[in-house]
Amino acid sequence: MDVIVIGGGIAGIATAYQLHAAGHRVCVVERHATVAQGATYGQGGALLPSPLDVWFGPTFMASSRSKQSGMVVKTGFDSAARDFIKQLATLRNSETFAAQYAHLQPLVATSRRVLAEIESRLELDFEQRRGMLHVFRQPRELEEAQPAIDLLKGCGVPYKLLTPEECIAVEPSVPDHSDFAGGVLLPDERTANCPLFTKQLKQVLEDDGVQFRMHRAVASLRLDGARAAVELADPNDAKRRSADVELITADAIVVAAGTGTPGLIGGIESASSLFALRVHTLTAPVAYEERAPHLTVVDSIKRITMTRINQRLRVGGAGVFQSASKADKPLDATLSRRALDLLGQGTHDWIPGAARVSAARAWEGLRLVTADGLPIVGATRHPRLFVNAAHGPAGWGLACGSAKVIADLVSGVTPDISASALAALSVERF
Ligand SMILES: Cc1cc2nc3c(=O)[nH]c(=O)nc-3n(C[C@H](O)[C@H](O)[C@H](O)COP(=O)(O)OP(=O)(O)OC[C@H]3O[C@@H](n4cnc5c(N)ncnc54)[C@H](O)[C@@H]3O)c2cc1C
Repeated sequence: MDVIVIGGGIAGIATAYQLHAAGHRVCVVERHATVAQGATYGQGGALLPSPLDVWFGPTFMASSRSKQSGMVVKTGFDSAARDFIKQLATLRNSETFAAQYAHLQPLVATSRRVLAEIESRLELDFEQRRGMLHVFRQPRELEEAQPAIDLLKGCGVPYKLLTPEECIAVEPSVPDHSDFAGGVLLPDERTANCPLFTKQLKQVLEDDGVQFRMHRAVASLRLDGARAAVELADPNDAKRRSADVELITADAIVVAAGTGTPGLIGGIESASSLFALRVHTLTAPVAYEERAPHLTVVDSIKRITMTRINQRLRVGGAGVFQSASKADKPLDATLSRRALDLLGQGTHDWIPGAARVSAARAWEGLRLVTADGLPIVGATRHPRLFVNAAHGPAGWGLACGSAKVIADLVSGVTPDISASALAALSVERF
């Protein structure tokens, strides 16, 4: 079949890879001049989400104060944004959390398998690093995280509960003078460079004959004929003068357009079910080699991830919840400062002296998140339209497993995840 994939982030490129592997002819459309320019560019590095990493659950935003939660909430009177946060708060209940994570778990397992297959087939070096240490400040926080820790066991994720002394022994960059409650070591969980992987995969696909239409924006989808079609326009031409519009057709379309997805697929009725969350990274040179971590250190409650990538440290987190109308406007300088201060403080608290924060490059990006914490993966009501998007904070590895699910569905093959998990991930839930 001929398949058009919209979006050149990790979700789009991974989908193109699986569709091509399944024998389809694929064309990827991306509005930027190159791939990995959206949320994929800024990722913090964590490859697959464990129950401790997902952006919902018992400890997520348990406090409304940004210094405690690691999030800046500025929803004002926007009722959709407030409802969104209320819905996420219901997932703090341990049973609701476990039930929701159970829908994600099959996708995590598929993603792990798919990534292993790609790695063994292509032998790519994309700065993979093994070992993550989640650290907790207060004994109460460790207690609150217990339902997530219990799920690690249930999901077969190897882990070790560590005292503060044991944390310092496995990761000497954690300061021995600080007073904290302890940590959880995930020895097999990995971090890696998502934009680098995305670019490498794109190169493999291009060499294999997959088409790339870069610097072309999809203005709309046409799904009424025997074949599906997309209208391509110059991304800088907001007025879409007709001379600039080009129509390309295919048997199926996969929308993997990150925050551009809802506008293209339409039909999402509830304004509070999807949200473009602004997240930040700081990338700083290593200051002192002897203080740089060799494990990835995660401030578990504040969801701040500190990853070493060769001679750099990538610190990611500091989400800013604002009303939807502010998502496509530049962030107010005071809020931006507050968010970056959270990252700077996390670095100072857990790996002091490791990074030259004064020389750090700051980046912020929007990622699409859902109020139930699950991505949107699968078929839609229209038989030619499929979606791989809204992975929120966990799109790096998850998008790769989702890509396999999509390729199976497009090919008419039953995916390797249960029908109930597929239903939970479907866009129809909104
Ligand atoms: C600061 C930050 C830290 C993060 N940390 C992690 C982490 O540690 N681990 C993890 O797993 N995930 C992390 N994430 C999330 C992860 O990066 C995202 O889930 C993932 O990159 C989403 O990929 P995507 O392909 O869906 O979206 P994107 O990368 O945003 O790609 C979508 C693409 O579609 C294109 N597009 C949109 N509309 C159109 C259109 N109309 N026509 C043509 N092209 C279009 C865009 O230009 C873009 O290139 C982080 C995200 C951020 C922002």
